[in-house]
Amino acid sequence: MTVFLGLPRADPESHLHGAPFPQAARAAIADTQLRRNLGNATATIRAKRARVVGEVPDWAALRAAGAAIKDDTLARLPELLVQLEEAVTARGGTVHWARDATEANRIVTALVQATGADEVVKVKSMATQEIGLNEALEAAGIAAWETDLAELIVQLGHDTPSHILVPAIHRNRAEIREIFLREMGRVGLPAPADLTDSPPALADAARRHLRQKFLDARVAISGANFAVASTGTLSVVESEGNGRMCITLPRTLITVMGIEKLVPTWQDLEVFLQLLPRSSTGERMNPYTSMWSGAVEGQEFHLVLLDNGRTAVLSDPEGRAALRCIRCSACLNVCPVYERTGGHAYGSIYPGPIGAVLSPQMTGPSQNSTLPYASSLCGACYDACPVAIDIPSMLVHLRSQVPHPAAERAVMRSVAYAMGSPRRWAVALAVSKAGRLLGRRRGRLSTLPPPLSGWTSSRDLPLPPAESFRDWWTRTHGDGS
Ligand code: SF4
Repeated sequence: MTVFLGLPRADPESHLHGAPFPQAARAAIADTQLRRNLGNATATIRAKRARVVGEVPDWAALRAAGAAIKDDTLARLPELLVQLEEAVTARGGTVHWARDATEANRIVTALVQATGADEVVKVKSMATQEIGLNEALEAAGIAAWETDLAELIVQLGHDTPSHILVPAIHRNRAEIREIFLREMGRVGLPAPADLTDSPPALADAARRHLRQKFLDARVAISGANFAVASTGTLSVVESEGNGRMCITLPRTLITVMGIEKLVPTWQDLEVFLQLLPRSSTGERMNPYTSMWSGAVEGQEFHLVLLDNGRTAVLSDPEGRAALRCIRCSACLNVCPVYERTGGHAYGSIYPGPIGAVLSPQMTGPSQNSTLPYASSLCGACYDACPVAIDIPSMLVHLRSQVPHPAAERAVMRSVAYAMGSPRRWAVALAVSKAGRLLGRRRGRLSTLPPPLSGWTSSRDLPLPPAESFRDWWTRTHGDGS
C-alpha cells in the first residue's frame, strides 16, 4: 500500500508566477496609456455592479448562502467529486483526474490527437490558461483558437490576459483595430481593409472570423463555471454565445475544470447564478447559460478534473476559503492596487486581490513571495466579494509565511533584541535621537544607509520626536510611577 504524505503544489509549468510584483508593477505604473485604459474600464464596471447589486434586497443573505454552500462543498469535496464522476460516467461521459498541469496537458493532447484533429476551438477558461494548454497543444502541432472576443484579442496580439473577466482590459479600441488588421488574415478570415475602430465594426470582424473557426471545428475545449455533483451537470456562463457554439457544434467536447468548481445540487446552483452575473459584468442575468450532463448522442464528452495545488490550498484552514472563489473579478475592479498596475504585474493568470492569495497558496509561498504585499489591505475586495472571502486577513496570514530577505530579518531581530529589555530600549531611543541631527534641515529623513535604504527609497521617514513618550512620562509622572 502506498502512503501519500504531503499535498502536491502547482506544477512548475503552471502560469501562476512570474517576475516579482514590485519590479513588474514599476513598469506598469510608468505606462500612462495602460493606466488610463484600466481606470476607465474598472470605473465603468464598478458603477454597473454597484447599481445592480443595490437592486437586490436580499443580497447579504444570498452572499452568506453562497459562502455557506462553498464551505460545505469544500468540507465534503472527496465524496462530492466521486459523486460527480459517477453521474457523468452514467450519462456517457468520461472522467479523467489530473494532479497537475503536466498531467492535464498530456491527457487533453492525447484526447485531441485521438480524434485526428489538428485544431480546436476554445471557450474562455481560466483552468486551461493556468496549465498553459494552448502552448502544450501548439507543441504537439495542434492549433487552439480562442473564441471569446477579449481572449481572441489577447491571442491575436501575442499578449497575456490582464483581467479574469475582461482579459483585454488593457487595450483600447484603436489598438484592437490594429491587431485585427495585422493578425486575422494570418490565421483565418482577414479583417476588412476599411475596418474602423467602432465597437460594432470590430465585433463584426470578430464574428466573421470566428464563424469560420466554429464551422471547421471537430473538437472544442471548455472550462466550467460550475458542476452539479448530484446530476453530473456542467455549466458555462457567458455573454457572447461563443460558448454555446463550442459546446454544441463539435463532435468532441473536452472540459477542464478545477476541482473546487463543484456545487452539491441544482438548488445550490440557483444561488450562484444570481451572484455571478451581478458581481462580474454588472448584469441582472448573463445572456447565455449552457448546461450539459454527460454526452449527447453523436458527441463524445471528456471531463478533466484538475488539482494543480488546490488540495494544498484546502489543507490550510486559514487560506482554504480562497477556493470559494467563483472568478467574478469584482475584487479586481475595486482594488486600488490593481487599478494602477493592471493584471500583468501579478505574474500569475489570477491577478488582483484573489490572485495575490490564490497564487502563493497554489505554488507554495516561496514561489510568489511578493504577492501577499501587493495590497493596501483597504478591505474593498472583501466588501465586494459575493462569497465573502476575507482576502485582507488571508494576505496578512500569507505575509507571515513568505520568506523574508536577510536584511529585513536582521533588522527585525535587532528591533526584537532592543525591545526585549527596558534598558536596551532606552539606549536605542537615545541613539535614534541622533537622526534629528541628520534630517534637521528638511524636517524629515530622506535617505538611510543600507539595509534601511529599502524603506527610504520610496518614502520619507519622520524625524524621531524631541521627547519620547517614556521621557514625557518620567517628566510628568516621575520615575517608576
Ligand atoms: S475573490 Fe470573490 S470577488 Fe474576487 S473573483 Fe473570487 S469571488 Fe469574485
